[in-house]
Amino acid sequence: MANPLQPVQPASVLVWLRRDLRLNDHAALHAALKRQGPIQLVFIFDTTILHAIPGWKKGSTIDDRRVGFIHAALEQIKESLNEAGGDLAVHVGNPVELIPLIAQQMRASCVVAAHDDEPAARRRDDDVRQALEDLGVEWVTVKDQCIFERHEVLTGAAKPFSVFTPYKNAWLKRLTADDIAERNTGVMVRQGKIVIQDPLKSRLRPAMSGGAEPTPLPSLESMGFSSGNLHALGIPLGATGADMLFHDFQSRIKDYKTARDFPGIKGPSYLSMHLRFGTIAIRELVRFAWAASRDSSQSEGASTWLSELIWRDFYMQVLFHHPHVADRSFRPEYDQIQWLEGPESDRLFRAWCEGRTGFPLVDAGMRQLNATGYMHNRLRMVVASFLTKDLGIDWRRGEAYFAWKLNDFDLSANNGGWQWAASSGCDAQPYFRIFNPVTQSEKFDPKGSFIRRYVPEISAWPDRWIHAPWEAPSQVLTEHGLRLGDPYPMPVVMHDQARVKTLLRYGVVKKAGSTSVGSTPPS
Ligand code: FAD
Repeated sequence: MANPLQPVQPASVLVWLRRDLRLNDHAALHAALKRQGPIQLVFIFDTTILHAIPGWKKGSTIDDRRVGFIHAALEQIKESLNEAGGDLAVHVGNPVELIPLIAQQMRASCVVAAHDDEPAARRRDDDVRQALEDLGVEWVTVKDQCIFERHEVLTGAAKPFSVFTPYKNAWLKRLTADDIAERNTGVMVRQGKIVIQDPLKSRLRPAMSGGAEPTPLPSLESMGFSSGNLHALGIPLGATGADMLFHDFQSRIKDYKTARDFPGIKGPSYLSMHLRFGTIAIRELVRFAWAASRDSSQSEGASTWLSELIWRDFYMQVLFHHPHVADRSFRPEYDQIQWLEGPESDRLFRAWCEGRTGFPLVDAGMRQLNATGYMHNRLRMVVASFLTKDLGIDWRRGEAYFAWKLNDFDLSANNGGWQWAASSGCDAQPYFRIFNPVTQSEKFDPKGSFIRRYVPEISAWPDRWIHAPWEAPSQVLTEHGLRLGDPYPMPVVMHDQARVKTLLRYGVVKKAGSTSVGSTPPS
């Protein structure tokens, strides 16, 4: 029987953070605030994901910038909630088991989370929903990661779009102020601080209340991780870091259209990792881009940037409607292609991964990825094209390497980018359009400033020869004291010959009757 001297605690609402690691403009928290009862927040370090990271082994520690990034974002959230009298409970394990257990412990009437449409996340959420239903706990999910999702933007025939430009036009036509309005929680990020006010503040379940003890934040080491060079790289962390990057980009947005293509200059926003983990709300970015696209002094850059954010929604809905793309080509005829296999393929793949192909721009891009976990968009297109169309290696091997290394790895965008480059995807480039790694280099890194940063072995080469060192005449080599193939390797393939082989390789697709319609590159 209940103790009559103890006040009856109303059932609480549990907010499960996943890819929304912030407190401001937060759809799940906003939905929780519309319900009765105290609010408790929880995050689970999902061991089914962590233990599948290449190299993870019980009892040892591996570097992973992404796990470190999540940890730092949680630390920020936890500290600000503690200051406001609440807490973020952080657990390590399988959420399918832990969420129902925690909900029960807390006498939660409801668990609220944001949609996650990746195939594995959908399966996980189905299991969680089922387990909660069995306990009589309500499961509520809301849209947070994108502006439009699932069936919200469809063709006139109520079918999903598979070509970007009409999708974008329909997306823009459908957009209303409400779609991008702030999901208010009373939390603000201002000048490096998270300020929690009402309505959230007075609804936070006190940190030390009965039932669920506040959990300490598990250390990275206890989970088998270290954050590698995340801090040394100076990546701004958490919601305050995202806010800083976004403010910095606002003053540059007007130049985005031209500047974004040159890896040697500060052109893009560098917000992708923050978007991946939700330390900033997509609505906030689109609100700004939308308003700036209507201001003549910034409109060109802002509309181009807005398009990139729409590509993100586009690929998310592709994955939702066609989950097979996670393993197979969007266009089935592309699965007939015979990719290079065996030891030769392994040797070339290793050279690509290590940035030792002999093509300076390709190598600079791969070394940027290996050293920082980021790769400029232009270079993602160049190296992906090079792997599939110069080396003849299956796009899935490149996709998996990116998935392992990218700080901003996102299944839908990464898969979309790879299938675009391999011409096998939704609205991909036609297979006969093949990037030339040397002309790309001359065009987008004309003075070789980016190459010099990441490929120091050739930093002394004159601008003219830095894009294709093997073409330098012998008197240039003598004059500058340079040697071909040492220490920088000779090219592993010749582009013109590789191009011919690729056209033959892709011939099976032509026979199957597809040339892929194609649109302009995603960026
Ligand atoms: P900005 O130019 O400032 O763009 C702003 C945001 O728009 C990005 O942060 C991103 O969220 C979104 N965006 C931009 N371009 C695209 C695009 N083509 N498709 C989808 N969203 C886009 N992006 C990822 O976020 N994760 C990935 O795993 C990923 N893998 C890619 C793999 C390949 C082969 C290619 C060609 C592209 C990939 N991209 C991926 C898209 C793009 O390269 C990155 O989003 C961008 O380089 C991130 O830098 P930024 O934040 O400075 O971008």
